[in-house]
Amino acid sequence: MSMLERARPELVAFAPYASARRAGFDARVRLDANESPWDIADDGFADAGLNRYPQPQPDALRARLAALYGVDPAALWLGRGSDEAIDLLLRAFCRAGRDNVVAFAPTFGMYRVGAALQGAAFRTLALSADDGFALDADRLLALADDDTKLVIVCSPNNPSGTLYHGDALERLARALDGRALLLVDEAYVEFAGVASASALLARQPNVAVLRTLSKAHALAGARVGALLAQPEIIDLVGRIAAPYPLPIGSVHAASAALEPAALARTHARIATLVAERERVAAALAGIDGVRTVWPSAGNFVLARFTDARAAFARLLGAGILVRDFSTQPGLANCLRITIGRPDENDALLAALGGARR
Ligand code: PMP
Repeated sequence: MSMLERARPELVAFAPYASARRAGFDARVRLDANESPWDIADDGFADAGLNRYPQPQPDALRARLAALYGVDPAALWLGRGSDEAIDLLLRAFCRAGRDNVVAFAPTFGMYRVGAALQGAAFRTLALSADDGFALDADRLLALADDDTKLVIVCSPNNPSGTLYHGDALERLARALDGRALLLVDEAYVEFAGVASASALLARQPNVAVLRTLSKAHALAGARVGALLAQPEIIDLVGRIAAPYPLPIGSVHAASAALEPAALARTHARIATLVAERERVAAALAGIDGVRTVWPSAGNFVLARFTDARAAFARLLGAGILVRDFSTQPGLANCLRITIGRPDENDALLAALGGARR
């Protein structure tokens, strides 16, 4: 069954904002979009071409990312970070006041925010820290009913760092087939050393995957993320999206980041980051006042302290900001620590009273 049948019915034939360029036209003299005819690059202070709107979905970047992620370009939509794709999927599928979204907790906070904005109920299965945030797929599925449109699995999960992959995901997708979209958020998958769930796209029409250039590719400021899904879902998301989501500067930055030399640097930095993650996790575990450090497949670790508020204050006093999760259910005394450069990690460990390398 096509997942379009589960999208909001009034959107299935939704006519997008029309523009000549969305229709595929282009010409030497462009008098179609009320742009300025003067390229301010000629005044000497900007990149060339900023007087023109960008392509709605920049072809070259889309093709390159699709190749990197192993999907067809028609199965990939580029947006302002994966945040925008999350928002648009919720808007495309969930009828306000009727539909619901299923996820586990703790997980990335934007799912709940996005669902609330769309008026969709957000149902969560609480995972236990004591259990290492293990996921019982049957209990997650038990939360889903006829009005469930999205089931979201963040893997590696923010903030726990837990990886959920392989057969477990495929079983979830199969169990939800024809009913709900399984959205696998892989914002951190490059740090996990496992294959992307995008391989499932070929077998399961109800799978969608989120990728981003914000983390491993060091481009959070450019806001470039990708949704991978069946072309009909990509088409729907493209029709409800704002006309020109990606600023030209972001397209340039993303294209540069995908050049072979840049990709090689990225791979080397991922290896460094992963080694640092393991070093920091081991060092944290040996620090007085740290009770638990959970294994992480992301570029961060979650740690439980004896007194997280004191640790947070101590770090802040040393000029180091981490994320305090201690008020979230099940995460009492937990801080999420992003892995930085080696010198930053040394500073963190020193501030907590741990040994340096
Ligand atoms: N998914 C997860 C799990 C995240 O942690 C984040 C950023 N914190 C995002 C998506 C959004 O990333 P972006 O919009 O920068 O692609």
